[in-house]
Amino acid sequence: MSTAGIYIHIPFCRSRCSYCDFATGIYEGALAESYVQALVKEILSWQDIDTPAAIDTIYFGGGTPSMLSASQIEVILEAIHTRFGIQANADVEVTIEMNPGTVTLALLHEFHRLGIDRASFGAQTFDDRELVRLGRSHTAQDTRQTFNYLREAGFDNVSFDLIAGLPGQTLEGWERNVDEALTLRPEHLSFYLLEVHEGTPLAEHIRRGMQPQPDDDQSAQMYELMLDRASSAGYEHYEISNLCLPGFESRHNTKYWTGAPYYGFGCSAHSYDGSFRRWSNERDVARYTGLIQKDASPVVERIELSKHQARAEALFLGLRMMQGVDLKRHQLQFGADPWDSHEAELARFREAGLIEYDGDLIKLTRSGTLLSNEVFSAFV
Ligand code: SF4
Repeated sequence: MSTAGIYIHIPFCRSRCSYCDFATGIYEGALAESYVQALVKEILSWQDIDTPAAIDTIYFGGGTPSMLSASQIEVILEAIHTRFGIQANADVEVTIEMNPGTVTLALLHEFHRLGIDRASFGAQTFDDRELVRLGRSHTAQDTRQTFNYLREAGFDNVSFDLIAGLPGQTLEGWERNVDEALTLRPEHLSFYLLEVHEGTPLAEHIRRGMQPQPDDDQSAQMYELMLDRASSAGYEHYEISNLCLPGFESRHNTKYWTGAPYYGFGCSAHSYDGSFRRWSNERDVARYTGLIQKDASPVVERIELSKHQARAEALFLGLRMMQGVDLKRHQLQFGADPWDSHEAELARFREAGLIEYDGDLIKLTRSGTLLSNEVFSAFV
């Protein structure tokens, strides 16, 4: 069995960004403390799998996990090590997400001492006006300073998140962002095209004409520009939205795209057993904490995938990786050639230049990455 990852959801932020629809709320000390206690209890009493796979990645996501203190992160890590029998010297990638301006140098030293060896942080843009429009609570200078702190604290695996296609953003403005990110030279870059989710303040601002509608064609040009600039600077494009310097792929996130198991803890966390079972936890923090305090299961949804669904998932998640899907391996695993199950769709996408074949590999072309949602929807 392949190794597994652990995801820990920390649902607290300093403030709420205008485009955010994640399960997160404003940080409050007492709530965070009772949440950490619930998390530890959930981890220590977890029995969803009889024989869990060996753990080699741990990922603190959110929210803004760096709002927690080092001692709170430490008790969570201890619970994981105890429950999953991780040896002290095991090669485990431990990532924490953070936002610029939410951490001190001393806290980063503490995180590093605890074995956290990867930091992923939401730079989003280096333009202060765009940060204000997004409702972000930091400035571009905070991003530069947090990055310097990370280096000083010994983090040699740092990832930036950048968002393209912001309302009013120009191609030139985006180019400046990309150049500044590449000059700092983090080991990893995740970049996203802004999605406007219904119910968020940003959607309301756009609806009322207070902010312009994002321009899809320009967003596509921004995506291409990012890929061109980053590959000239030595970054590898390994997943639709992710680039890295050689050897710095996110080991944890790669599990999501390659069908490896992962076990999620905390409100709204999702889990997968690596074959046919997926399950997810209660989304609301208070209800999640209440369930754990009552010794009840926080799981609110369990999905048993059919063989057809598992095969389709393996295809559309695998196609997110630029290396593509190995058809022989796929056939070995599922006993079926994707051509048998999805012949019409695959032929249509190949004709449209969205996918290509390379020996036994089937992969998205560059145009395919831009229209990936259309490709993936054919498999759902
Ligand atoms: S920091 Fe991230 S998780 Fe928190 S509100 Fe902003 S976008 Fe949402």
